[in-house]
Amino acid sequence: TERTLVLVKPDGVRRGLSGEILRRVEAKGYTLVAVELRTAGDDVLAAHYAEHEGKPFYAPLVDFMKSGAVLAVVAEGHRVIEGFRSLAGTTDPTTAAPGTIRGDLGRDWGLKVQQNLVHGSDSAESAAREIALWFPAL
Ligand code: ATP
Repeated sequence: TERTLVLVKPDGVRRGLSGEILRRVEAKGYTLVAVELRTAGDDVLAAHYAEHEGKPFYAPLVDFMKSGAVLAVVAEGHRVIEGFRSLAGTTDPTTAAPGTIRGDLGRDWGLKVQQNLVHGSDSAESAAREIALWFPAL
């Protein structure tokens, strides 16, 4: 059965939305396999966001991701990768559909990086890579 990496980003943890976000993942019917609150370091973030290196929002993104605790989660279930991306909504929280995590709980704060509450792996290859990165023991 499929697994995905979900991150509740520092804005979500800071705003006290970790429980609400986990609740939505569980309510959809997915199983939580691992949940860990931690402060991400440069090494993990550089690997996690390697595809964005060189983009204008890369440095603000890494700084933002280091600005507070992140809740790292592995969720499991048939088609969970696609299912969580659907729960999360589109990247820009201003226009993400109501009913989604970003659409219901997020907004644009006028900052250099979009603070959009969550990350979810976007493919089976990304999920395998990201789970190995954040949870090497799994
Ligand atoms: P994630 O990978 O975090 O699930 P995503 O797939 O919707 O989100 P990506 O394109 O992978 O978005 O970008 C990673 C993160 O970088 C986004 O979630 C957002 O926080 C930030 N970001 C992406 N594009 C921009 C942008 N144009 N301006 C500011 N921040 C951005």
